[in-house]
Amino acid sequence: MKIFLDTIGCRLNQAEIENMARQFRSAGHEIVANADSAEMAVVNTCAVTTQAASDSRSKIRNIARAGVEQIIPTGCWTTLQPKEALALPNVLQVVTNDKKDFLVPNVLNLPQETFDIEPIDRTPIPGLHRRTRAFIKVQDGCDNKCTFCVTTIARGESISRPLANVIADINSALAGDSKEIVLTGVHLGSWGQEFNHHLRDLVKAILRETDVKRLRLSSLEPWDLDAGFFSLWEDKRLMPHLHLPLQSGSDSVLKRMLRKTTTDSFRQLVLSARKLIPDVAITTDIIAGFPAETEDEFLQTLDFVNEMQFVGGHVFSYSSRAGTGASRMKGQVKPEVRKKRNHILQESIAESAKSYRQKFIGKKVSVLWESTTEYDEFGWKMEGWSENYLRVSAVASSPRWNEVDKVKLLEIDGEKMKAEII
Ligand code: SF4
Repeated sequence: MKIFLDTIGCRLNQAEIENMARQFRSAGHEIVANADSAEMAVVNTCAVTTQAASDSRSKIRNIARAGVEQIIPTGCWTTLQPKEALALPNVLQVVTNDKKDFLVPNVLNLPQETFDIEPIDRTPIPGLHRRTRAFIKVQDGCDNKCTFCVTTIARGESISRPLANVIADINSALAGDSKEIVLTGVHLGSWGQEFNHHLRDLVKAILRETDVKRLRLSSLEPWDLDAGFFSLWEDKRLMPHLHLPLQSGSDSVLKRMLRKTTTDSFRQLVLSARKLIPDVAITTDIIAGFPAETEDEFLQTLDFVNEMQFVGGHVFSYSSRAGTGASRMKGQVKPEVRKKRNHILQESIAESAKSYRQKFIGKKVSVLWESTTEYDEFGWKMEGWSENYLRVSAVASSPRWNEVDKVKLLEIDGEKMKAEII
């Protein structure tokens, strides 16, 4: 069968469809680049914001319009709204998050117990979701109850994947010629808590037991880390990039969000990271316009964001999600105010990101080329990510997709940097 895999939202969703691709391939099916030529489609949906939920529905409708008669929605929106998902055109069945790991054997009517994918290396999915970097799921679910978060509801309790399974997935990705491994989860920092281990132990084991050349960590909740964690970066295979969701720079708002951090503990963590990891890139997530956020609380957030000098991040306008504590809070901020605050915070981050890029002009970094955007008389135009998560473009005499090259950074080019391969 020709199968189209689509996803929306987080890296974990991407990691999950990459794993489904391996499973379908090992069962003898073909993964196709778009819906037009597919007989079946799986869509890993998202519910993190109202917009993401709406985009998930549109994706399913578009796939039905493309002529796919067997569509299987899964993921967070599907888990929260299974009836709505089942009512969409050409939906064969819905698979909620708690049954997602067995989606492929169930859909193919194969016995779960004996279904084996070991022989098949992980290779990129064709089409829009083609990635050079392999996203590896190490953990699912979350035991925290941040009041704005619907993911903790859709994904359920925190559960860690066994070390051996993670190592096996990484080796399969490396055998499939992946040059960079990205560890991902809903609450990555809680990996191992069930068996008295810490994410630190997982990272050490991966660096010890695999030939990974570039290892990157996805989003980490600040309260899971301490200064000692940063000594891991003595191993240069660990990419100097930390994504630490702040969500708010106001302690009173952090309290209403039930975030297990304060501005001071966040500040101390960032100072330790910058002391122990040279040139570390710190990115973040922030919510603008959380319920009852006063102008003063917003200005506290803006001051703190300016102080932290993030080099990138996502600013979300607060999106009320049914079932969350924040959706029941009084003092919902007007949408136009959320939007205005979002814009101001984005400008602040864009400014500090530009100063960070400025520091690297003339410096040498290694870049994993992730896309070939165009070809003209000058050669192939490449784009990719450096170790410290700078978006870099350069011209090459031949296509260098999925290759790692040393480059010299020449100048800032909008949100990217222009470089020459050396
Ligand atoms: S830590 Fe908070 S924001 Fe992150 S998934 Fe858990 S509940 Fe959601």
